[in-house]
Amino acid sequence: MSPDLNTIAAADDLILPFAIEGAPVRGRLARLGAAVDEILTRHDYPEAVANLLGEACALAALVGSNLKFEGRLIVQAQGDGPVAYVVADYDSNGGLRGYCRYDADRVATVSQDFARPGAKTLLGQGVFIMTLDQGPDTERHQGVTPIEGETFALCAERYFAQSEQTPTRVRLAVGQADRGEGARWRAGGMLIQAVASDDARGDTEEAWTRAQAYFETIGEDELIDPLLSGEQLLFRLFHEDGARVFDVKPLSAFCRCSVDRIKGILAQFPAEERADMVEADAKIRVTCEYCARVYAVAPDGIDVGGV
Ligand SMILES: [Zn+2]
Repeated sequence: MSPDLNTIAAADDLILPFAIEGAPVRGRLARLGAAVDEILTRHDYPEAVANLLGEACALAALVGSNLKFEGRLIVQAQGDGPVAYVVADYDSNGGLRGYCRYDADRVATVSQDFARPGAKTLLGQGVFIMTLDQGPDTERHQGVTPIEGETFALCAERYFAQSEQTPTRVRLAVGQADRGEGARWRAGGMLIQAVASDDARGDTEEAWTRAQAYFETIGEDELIDPLLSGEQLLFRLFHEDGARVFDVKPLSAFCRCSVDRIKGILAQFPAEERADMVEADAKIRVTCEYCARVYAVAPDGIDVGGV
């Protein structure tokens, strides 16, 4: 019996770079399944907070996957609203991680007032920050813009308009899908950019306008549809002009925390403070904010060096 193609899940956890045929327009499509589900489920956030972090993860992957060198792309936002801080961190191996700090009572209140509170409602007055970190010997490149839209997609478009002056459109979507094994988080996104063209005919603007018109027809449901592959979505959007796809880049949930890093952090505390942290079983417990892993460290195993 041949499998029914309409019920087979399409490939997930990847970035699909593409170019529109004959037009100076490039883009990337992000599809996140198990990777974003792992990140969001580990933290067990309220739905509105999980949505916000899912958007940040999809955005970090979309922007970061364009890194030409080894490094990290960090999306952060902070404000005076129910969510004080959100961070998503992409490394050039495709690893994603992230977390939020929030006030549960205020999130619950605002979630009653809105079916789906957006970035501005959750973060309040604040800033959206994108940081490109290409290693210890390089300068960090950071762009800061005020949070003005209800989605991180709008924040990102504003960032690109201000700091890179590359015409850029971004769309992000987060949701849950239940394919018989309980509700699982999914996230998706698309970014398109008008790239410099050596085409002397001056039709760059027209091509960009056309690409945006197609782009605007994307439904959020399409970005996170587990049965719709990236190639199928690109065909649906751009079939009149054609889209060429390039090698996919895999994405995964990955945290750089380790026992050694935790010991390194503990070594920076004064000895008395460290002594106060020791629990009844003679261990110090440290939770990694990014991935929620709990490390139990024996204080005598901490190399305090000259501290
Ligand atoms: Zn971690």
